Amino acid sequence: MLKKFFYILWVSVLSILLGFSLQNGSFVSFINSMENHTFDIRQNILANSQKRQHNRDIVIVAIDDASYEYILGKYGEWPLRRDIYAKAVEYIQAQKPKSIAFDMMFVKSMKSSADADSKLVDVFKKYDNVYAAMNLDNQPEDLRIPPVLPEKLAMLPFDVDSHPMEYSNCRVILDGILNATKNIGMINVARSDDGVLRSMPLYLKYQDKIYPQLGFLVGKDYLQKYTDKKLADNVHPDDNASVILNWYGPAGTFDNIPMYKLLKAIEGQDELNYDFNGKVVYFGATAASLFDIKTVPVDKVYPGVEVQATYVNNIIDGSFIRKCPAIANILITLILAILTVLAVRGISSMPVAFGVSVTIYAVYIMIAYEMMNLYNRWVEIVSPLAFALLAFIIAVIVKYLIKSRDFDAQYKLATTDGLTELYNHRYFQEQMQNQVSHAKRYEVPLSLIIVDIDFFKKFNDTYGHQSGDAVLRQVAFILKKNVRSTDIVCRYGGEEMSIILPNTKYEEAVTIANKLCSLVSEKKCKLSNGRESNVTISLGVSTFGADGETPATIIESADKRLYNAKENGRNRVN
Ligand code: GH3
Ligand code: MG
Ligand code: MG
Repeated sequence: MLKKFFYILWVSVLSILLGFSLQNGSFVSFINSMENHTFDIRQNILANSQKRQHNRDIVIVAIDDASYEYILGKYGEWPLRRDIYAKAVEYIQAQKPKSIAFDMMFVKSMKSSADADSKLVDVFKKYDNVYAAMNLDNQPEDLRIPPVLPEKLAMLPFDVDSHPMEYSNCRVILDGILNATKNIGMINVARSDDGVLRSMPLYLKYQDKIYPQLGFLVGKDYLQKYTDKKLADNVHPDDNASVILNWYGPAGTFDNIPMYKLLKAIEGQDELNYDFNGKVVYFGATAASLFDIKTVPVDKVYPGVEVQATYVNNIIDGSFIRKCPAIANILITLILAILTVLAVRGISSMPVAFGVSVTIYAVYIMIAYEMMNLYNRWVEIVSPLAFALLAFIIAVIVKYLIKSRDFDAQYKLATTDGLTELYNHRYFQEQMQNQVSHAKRYEVPLSLIIVDIDFFKKFNDTYGHQSGDAVLRQVAFILKKNVRSTDIVCRYGGEEMSIILPNTKYEEAVTIANKLCSLVSEKKCKLSNGRESNVTISLGVSTFGADGETPATIIESADKRLYNAKENGRNRVN
């Protein structure tokens, strides 16, 4: 039981160490990009299976391709004159919306007219629920001196420990708007390394002050004015003061009114059958030609204004995706690795063990999916599974090694004599068969020596059985030490031993037998009681061909010669 436990622990720890040792930069970024990919897949499934319902309070006034065409046709220019936006704001305000936000920047422009601009500034002065966008950047100071922004635009840090993205410059919008309202948010985004937009900053740093993101500002005010939810319950920024967006669907998911329809209604040309009452109205471009296009997990081409809508929607729902703490990922990894090792260890069939492991991984992927579905949690998939697979491979290798070691041990047990550690009788018979076949086939010599200790019964009677055993071991040792490594020394039975000598002619075998005979007789064998004594052996030698062509006849012949050696006075070779 304990051994099992240590085996599992060892394999798990080994695979995790191995995994960590592989964690150099490129490996980590590969794992991260794979993980992001699984995030995108999860988001796509959720967004496309209608599991995420967007907020119907949010509506986009979209400057789509049709509206762009209409504007160029009707007004002959783009950007649109700012007084038109002012009119649009007035039109919508008459229906009491919750807020109106512009995901577009009213920068100073060659085409702008002071008169038209001042109309727009007026609506920012008049209404405290209208929001404008601005953008921080890192343009060099010789392009523009970094402007000082009005104090009221900065916000208190939301979370003192976070490190928001920092920018060195800022592209200001119309002075009038800057001074008229505090409802100005940045529209900077935070893309992942692969260029996909997955998270958004809550706020950003510029000239040692903190400025809110536009969506954050709109969402925060919505929560405070229209709900009793607390911002801190709905928004949990990471270390970089960012949040991960939870997507509701591909581009076009949010309620959407083409700008040209609104313009026609304002001009009194057409009725707009839409009620802006209670809505969060976002103005923004969705036309591909107007360059506000992002790639997000659920769509390759996704308008920036819908990113903003998603952001606000996530704040209202409190549905931002949150990553699990690192410790949870480590625990999950460990559990998966241990389950894998258990499967490999416990199941003898490798394909079944693999099948069970894959099933465990599949169940884990389902759990990870449900964590995102039900709890908006991003539990990692790639690195735990990579580690688990590594654990699988290592467990298989270790299992194979242990198996082969066990096999070796069992094979040794089955072929060795316990007392002398020579090969046993069964192995001797097996090898005689093999060697005779080999000698026959390749026409090489083969000899056999059978050894019997002289007067061993008497020896036992005199010194005791234990001393007899000690002598047997020492004689076996002498035989083994003084023949070639290719010779096979066996315990034939009782105090008889046999040596198969492949590739050895009769005369050579006799020489070896004589050498062994005198070595044994010269050796002072240690007895169990500490004393010493001599024994002698008699040896019978036979050879393949001259004495027979089967194991039985060769053995019989050696036996006969051994008998003769005994007859002739023992301690000799025949
Ligand atoms: P000989 O010179 O004619 O061979 O006389 P011997 O007494 O050795 O006769 P034999 O070979 O028939 O004797 C076999 C004896 O070897 C019987 C037994 O007491 C002893 N013997 C056989 N196996 C073992 C063993 O494993 N340990 C010990 N101590 N004695 C054994
Ligand atoms: Mg005997
Ligand atoms: Mg004997």
